[in-house]
Amino acid sequence: MNNNTRPDTDGLTSRAASTTATTAAAAVGGAASTADVIVIGLGAFGSATAWQLARRGAKVIGIDRFHPPHDLGSSHGATRITRLAVGEGEAYVPLVQASHRIWKELEAAHGEALYLPTGGLIMGAADGGAQHHGKTDFVQRTIGLARQYGITHELLQPDEVQARFPQFQLRGDELAYYEPESGVLKPERCVAVQLEAARQHGAALRMGEQVLAISETPGGVTVRTDKGTYSAGQVVFAAGPWTPGLVGDAYRAHLRVKRQVLFWFRPTEPALYGSPGCPIFIWMHGRGDEDYFYGFPMVDGHAGVKVASEQYLKDADPDQLQRSVSPEERETMFQTHVAGRLRSVTSECVQAVPCMYTVSDDSGFIVDAHPTLARAAVISACSGHGFKHSAGLGEAVAQHVLGEAGAPDLSAFRVSRFS
Ligand SMILES: Cc1cc2nc3c(=O)[nH]c(=O)nc-3n(C[C@H](O)[C@H](O)[C@H](O)COP(=O)(O)OP(=O)(O)OC[C@H]3O[C@@H](n4cnc5c(N)ncnc54)[C@H](O)[C@@H]3O)c2cc1C
Repeated sequence: MNNNTRPDTDGLTSRAASTTATTAAAAVGGAASTADVIVIGLGAFGSATAWQLARRGAKVIGIDRFHPPHDLGSSHGATRITRLAVGEGEAYVPLVQASHRIWKELEAAHGEALYLPTGGLIMGAADGGAQHHGKTDFVQRTIGLARQYGITHELLQPDEVQARFPQFQLRGDELAYYEPESGVLKPERCVAVQLEAARQHGAALRMGEQVLAISETPGGVTVRTDKGTYSAGQVVFAAGPWTPGLVGDAYRAHLRVKRQVLFWFRPTEPALYGSPGCPIFIWMHGRGDEDYFYGFPMVDGHAGVKVASEQYLKDADPDQLQRSVSPEERETMFQTHVAGRLRSVTSECVQAVPCMYTVSDDSGFIVDAHPTLARAAVISACSGHGFKHSAGLGEAVAQHVLGEAGAPDLSAFRVSRFS
């Protein structure tokens, strides 16, 4: 690939492809500050990408302004939902399937449980219309994808849900999709294990170091931080909610950061919410994008049942995020979503933690080339549903960056779809 080729705004592969391991480092010289690929941000996607690059023999420098896993971005809060028939769209199914393969591989290699298959329920009005992550008829879309991909599932009527899962008090007009392989991921541990794996493959990980500027050089890119300057053949941006600010207007135009809050409410019958027995759940109890909440079995050591909803009204600045959660927010969450729906769960909120979504115009991922740097890829894969895909997408991006034959098709995630 010609290093001076300008971005053609036509996707990741054509621009970010084929850094050959060690070529770039040799071109720019110096050992500690040069690499084949620099990964900016080491959260869910940066940790996965850095490890997948390093295990393929690439010389990797990973840089993070904080010390991942941390609780200042988008990958904290002890648990994340994973599910295979992802109603967000067909393009995501291969990613989550790859992720499940990789979580199991990591568990075997590191002797640590990262994924708990608790089963999962997705519930919405049987006559359709329920909206979630920008998609209407989310339950039906999920069922359609499960059938298309042969994903094991059951459809349950409200009385069957009541009999099998007495935690949930349904209205009676719902349809429930049950997927046994849905479950819980431990986000902080997934990040930590992949960073450790990256280190084991020789990646140099620089924590507590903020990237300030990235510029193009004849050999690739130069990255300037508050502590030094690094050169590489390519760079991958995985800066989560800081991506719009770091990448600039072409991405900022399509991404908005939203503060979300995770809540833990104390149950009077904790045994109802143990695992096995209690699945993860996604419950659309109205037709709007915010008429919805989701929750987890009590597998994270907290004294409460973890639940959350989503808000899309107010934008947030990741550097000025309101980190405290008011009593009003706790009360509103309980009254709007939990009361009358989760049996035995009380309004006593034992913990509440804010987190950030980075939401695109259509609630889909953006995984594409950088708008101006020729040898740079950008991963902005959130909109509230990214974690389950992170291991698989990190692998796919590494394959594209290294120009591997057979790299998964990521064209559904191009930013050009908005223009
Ligand atoms: C409340 C909440 C609930 C969610 N629930 C689910 C769920 O159940 N299932 C699911 O699949 N997904 C879920 N998601 C989405 C998922 O967690 C995110 O998509 C994913 O964690 C995003 O990871 P990331 O790597 O993009 O961002 P992050 O993990 O935030 O990583 C970005 C990193 O970049 C670093 N960085 C930023 N700027 C710089 C800089 N200038 N220099 C150096 N480093 C920098 C940051 O320090 C940070 O470590 C949820 C998200 C939230 C907030």
